[in-house]
Amino acid sequence: MSARVGVMGGGQLARMLAVAGVPMGLCLSTFDPAADACAAQLVPQHRARFDDTEALRRFAAEVDVVTFDFENVPAASAEALAASVPVYPSPRALAVAQDRLAEKTLFGELGIPVAGFANIDSLDGLRDAVARLGLPCILKTRRLGYDGKGQFRLRHADDIDAAWAALGPQVGSVGLILEAFVAFQREVSVVAVRGRDGEFRSWPLTENWHDAGILSASLAPAAVGADLAEQAVDHARRLAQSLDYVGVFALEMFVRDGQLLANEMAPRVHNAGHWTIEGAETSQFENHLRAVLGLPLGSTRPRGYSAMLNWIGEIPDPAVILHEPGGHWHDYGKSSRPGRKVGHATLRHDDPQALADSLLNVGAALGRPDLVRGPVARLGASARGVPA
Ligand code: AMP
Repeated sequence: MSARVGVMGGGQLARMLAVAGVPMGLCLSTFDPAADACAAQLVPQHRARFDDTEALRRFAAEVDVVTFDFENVPAASAEALAASVPVYPSPRALAVAQDRLAEKTLFGELGIPVAGFANIDSLDGLRDAVARLGLPCILKTRRLGYDGKGQFRLRHADDIDAAWAALGPQVGSVGLILEAFVAFQREVSVVAVRGRDGEFRSWPLTENWHDAGILSASLAPAAVGADLAEQAVDHARRLAQSLDYVGVFALEMFVRDGQLLANEMAPRVHNAGHWTIEGAETSQFENHLRAVLGLPLGSTRPRGYSAMLNWIGEIPDPAVILHEPGGHWHDYGKSSRPGRKVGHATLRHDDPQALADSLLNVGAALGRPDLVRGPVARLGASARGVPA
């Protein structure tokens, strides 16, 4: 097998796809305008702007299938590629997932619960929506926001002018949405895959912790009741079916008072699924490649318990992780920069208490007890048999 897979975007997700493609004999290449896109350390990169039609045409001619490590490729570019080569997920699925308003509207149509939201197109509209949805609430860009960027939290009515000053100028370019603030107890993600033939599989539900809007830690399987986990997977299945989705995606949800509320969908392999590299029978990266190539999907069965810790801004001493039995190290080959995801670690154990102990060691060695606190508390409860 030497299928050629083109990936739009050449960051760490493309890099991990490339690694997963090696044993399968696949040839990956990426398309990315950045001079320092880290997947290029492993596979060839077409360096051009995402709207460079001539470069897109050449890329399409050199690959058998196109997929994405980045959802904000312009819809017109995805359409142009799809005119000459199979593109998965489809440009339509990508377009829905690019727009918070379109995806929340679809969630509602599919009966997937969401918190209140409103499209915002003016300062007066923002005032009305704040009155309707109540405070606190969050003003977000509809498109091109990620990792908490393009968001403004409103706590008091006095914040309306500041929120509009911060994001109002972007209303014409990326659109704005106001969302009711969800006082959640937990954040969870379904990471799932759907094949070209419609076969659907999901990994166990993952619980996530964020720091300043950026994922900091994940734990899988999440310590939640079977009913909640089943509901979450059912939401993801219906979403994927309705979009005729092909590939891996993540559906991020809040848990408030035992109820799921959908936040957003990511139409690609996702940070909340990085643990699957070592913690599942088949990783999200391998299954994504299998899906877009029309190959049979692999088992998503977990191997014990896994916790993933993100390295944001700078990378710590690898020995801290490599000393731990079940510790796995990932360095994306990126330079340090505040807020940038530069690597991650996965710790995997069959026994939840052993994983909690290992996380405590790592938190202490890094001087970051905060980073492991959430997963340790959940694992401790699981080990004691305390129901979620
Ligand atoms: P997002 O870019 O929508 O994934 O938001 C990043 C993070 O901000 C989420 O993972 C939450 O921790 C927080 N957040 C976003 N939207 C809301 C909301 N409506 N209510 C409460 N927290 C939110």
